[in-house]
Amino acid sequence: MKEVFGAIEAGGTKFVCAVSTNPNELYDEIRFPTTTPGETIQSCIEYFKMQQGKYLLKSIGIGSFGPLDLRKESSTFGFITKTNKTGWTNTNFLGVLKKELNIPIEIDTDVNAAVLGEYYWGAGKGYSDFLYLTIGTGIGGGAIVNGKLLHGFNHPEMGHILIPHNKDDDNICNFHNDCLEGFASGPAIENHWKQKAELLPPEHIAWDNQADYIAKALMNYMLILAPKRIIIGGGVMDQKQLFPMIRDKVRKYLNNYIQIDEIINNLDEYIVPPKLGNKAGILGAIALAKLSYDNRASAK
Ligand code: ADP
Ligand code: ZN
Repeated sequence: MKEVFGAIEAGGTKFVCAVSTNPNELYDEIRFPTTTPGETIQSCIEYFKMQQGKYLLKSIGIGSFGPLDLRKESSTFGFITKTNKTGWTNTNFLGVLKKELNIPIEIDTDVNAAVLGEYYWGAGKGYSDFLYLTIGTGIGGGAIVNGKLLHGFNHPEMGHILIPHNKDDDNICNFHNDCLEGFASGPAIENHWKQKAELLPPEHIAWDNQADYIAKALMNYMLILAPKRIIIGGGVMDQKQLFPMIRDKVRKYLNNYIQIDEIINNLDEYIVPPKLGNKAGILGAIALAKLSYDNRASAK
């Protein structure tokens, strides 16, 4: 039987399950809407039980919407915790799958899964230390540090760092008055300009403001994490004109403080878009499955 990895891309509106070995070989994939936890998780179990009849399933990776409890010692490890998604608060996601499928399963946030996918097969390949930021409905970030996904007390929450505000911009975060997500997520842009972000023309002043917030955030991440590359994706970054604007502002704010050639002379290669595009979610989950399998193999 062919050996494969399993993957679950668990989103707030849809789930994608797949089996694969790497980005060039996706054998099978299904999608279904996110309904109740019971029904949705059951659909995952049935899918993988069916695949187990056809392939040798080595492990499964889950990239999930959050927040998640990723503290291994916690009694609610692998749970979706306090989420805005109705009915899903305190859902034992990992535990139920493990019990039913009885193979190694690795769970992480959708953002961290995308970080790992970019590390194995995308714009982070070959970089032992890089930052990945996604700017969409929310803002999330993750990092590879010394070749490993950064986890601390739990997963990072890079969207909620404090940022000096521009003019009288109001902040839409329910928790903070001056955080990045509240100023620069897609809904924040819409709130500020009273128009959907995708409808604002490329030359609109909104993008200068947007680039400014992102550049300030990047400067903070750069000074703290010293990443060797920064990848920025998410729906809002479909506005490709943002990339040169962000690079110019990062250069201006850093003011030659970091004397590294890649940063002084080659920001075009330093701040880049992701490479996995709309496959980032599912490939990220495959990457988590591979990580879990490789970790077990090296521990033996
Ligand atoms: P999600 O974060 O929900 O997974 P996306 O990354 O696609 O999904 O982000 C959706 C957000 O991005 C919405 O707020 C939307 O207005 C914004 N967005 C989507 N496409 C564009 C675009 N081409 N230009 C600017 N903003 C966009
Ligand atoms: Zn916030």
